[in-house]
Amino acid sequence: MGLKHDWYPFTIFPATCTFWGSFGMKCYNCGVRKGDEIDLDAPPLGHDLEYEVVVEKEPTCTENGYGYRQCKRLYNGSRCPYTEEVTIAKIGHDLGDLFDLRDTGVEKQATCTEDGVAYRQCKREGCDYKVNWIIPKTGHNYEKVKTVEPTCTKVGYNQYKCSICGHTYNKSISKLGHDFSELIETKAPTRNTTGYKKYKCSRCPETKIIGLTAEEKLDYFKTNEDKQEQLPKTTKKEPLNSKAKDNKTNIFIN
Ligand SMILES: [Zn+2]
Ligand SMILES: [Zn+2]
Ligand SMILES: [Zn+2]
Ligand SMILES: [Zn+2]
Ligand SMILES: [Zn+2]
Repeated sequence: MGLKHDWYPFTIFPATCTFWGSFGMKCYNCGVRKGDEIDLDAPPLGHDLEYEVVVEKEPTCTENGYGYRQCKRLYNGSRCPYTEEVTIAKIGHDLGDLFDLRDTGVEKQATCTEDGVAYRQCKREGCDYKVNWIIPKTGHNYEKVKTVEPTCTKVGYNQYKCSICGHTYNKSISKLGHDFSELIETKAPTRNTTGYKKYKCSRCPETKIIGLTAEEKLDYFKTNEDKQEQLPKTTKKEPLNSKAKDNKTNIFIN
């Protein structure tokens, strides 16, 4: 009744990344090899790739790069020659932080009346990719800078000037027209003349003569009866008495 065999595997040919190996079993206790003729197969290990990629061509903004990963298994101190090609994806343009205005260049300043052009240049070295966009025109910023008041006969104007570009324009103010509100002379009516009132403009020396209306004429005679010797009688007073005739005569003398 000896001890029981206690088998353990021992390598005959080590498996490699790609080739099968073989192993047998021996007993710990007696060193006997189990089934002398029978070797057991050990499956290939498969490659064990490094995580790091060896870069052969760096990717650019617009083109993929490439490189490879090496198998890291060692056989008798030398590395498995297997490599696997790797494509390194293109990285796209780097236009910077779109909200950081320091990365924005100005190709053409916008003015009041013309759009400008802004741009972003790709920040990667050797790339001349550029994006342009419109900077909207600002429009004028007009402020009133001068007023020439209108007169009775001349139009005035307000002058507006753009505080950005200095462009000016005038907006006319209608002339006022005369204001004949000052009565400066009244010419008494006579039998043969109508009489008139002369008015002066309140703003300028211009005057205007307006003949008395029939009604005004009548009123004038009524309120100046004490001077009737010098003044013509109205038709209303004619049929009064014989004196009327004298009055009439006076009128003709006048
Ligand atoms: Zn044994
Ligand atoms: Zn390998
Ligand atoms: Zn680029
Ligand atoms: Zn302007
Ligand atoms: Zn006037």
